[in-house]
Amino acid sequence: MFIVLAAVSGLIIGSFLNVVAHRLPRRESIVWPPSACPRCRRKLAWYENLPILSYLGLRARCRTCRQPISIRYPIVEALTAAMFAGAAWYYGPSILLVSRLLFGCALIVLFAIDLEHHLLPNAITLPGILIGFVFSLVTDPGWQASLIGIVCGGGLLYAIAEAYYRIRHEEGLGMGDVKMLAMIGAFIGWQLTLLTLVVASLVGSVVGMGLIATGRGSMKYALPFGTFLALGAAVAAVLGPGFLDWYLGQF
Ligand SMILES: [Zn+2]
Repeated sequence: MFIVLAAVSGLIIGSFLNVVAHRLPRRESIVWPPSACPRCRRKLAWYENLPILSYLGLRARCRTCRQPISIRYPIVEALTAAMFAGAAWYYGPSILLVSRLLFGCALIVLFAIDLEHHLLPNAITLPGILIGFVFSLVTDPGWQASLIGIVCGGGLLYAIAEAYYRIRHEEGLGMGDVKMLAMIGAFIGWQLTLLTLVVASLVGSVVGMGLIATGRGSMKYALPFGTFLALGAAVAAVLGPGFLDWYLGQF
């Protein structure tokens, strides 16, 4: 029952995350006006605004102007619902669950915005650092690990960005990435933040080489690093604790 409730809440919140991901980089209010078709500007009726169902019911097109609706909307909704259900099952009703859900929502929005706009808005990363730290006062990873995570995550990426800039004389990483890794550190602590950076770099290198090998991109047009940080943080938060136990047990 609790898990079903979580999944339904996830669908509704996923729908809201879509609104945030669409409007925040366009500097529009996220509460007003109500949702409209981006092309013909017609306001959506309630039954056109249902997560996933409306997408299927409308067969992925606006009812009046036939503008295709991006597959991104139902994907974000389904992903958020799955994340809510999975976290509810894994953590149970707890403060840690609330912390992890907020963290997951922030990652989903940052992923979507960075992918489309190559941008990681301060409006998410900066409050995220604060909220992650406040939660760490009462639950995992504890405030010391969180504080070290913020300084270590942000500082390490800042050093890498600075070194890259001095060597290549062009910007490889932005300050958005630095603030995002500081936020990740605040929520999951420094150990899992280091793991996040390793996973993100590995996946980023593999995807980057794949794009170069297939002639679809060069180093210059690499995918935004924030998308890999979001993936890496999700992997680290879910599989990280088990992996660290196993890894440290090897010595
Ligand atoms: Zn339309």
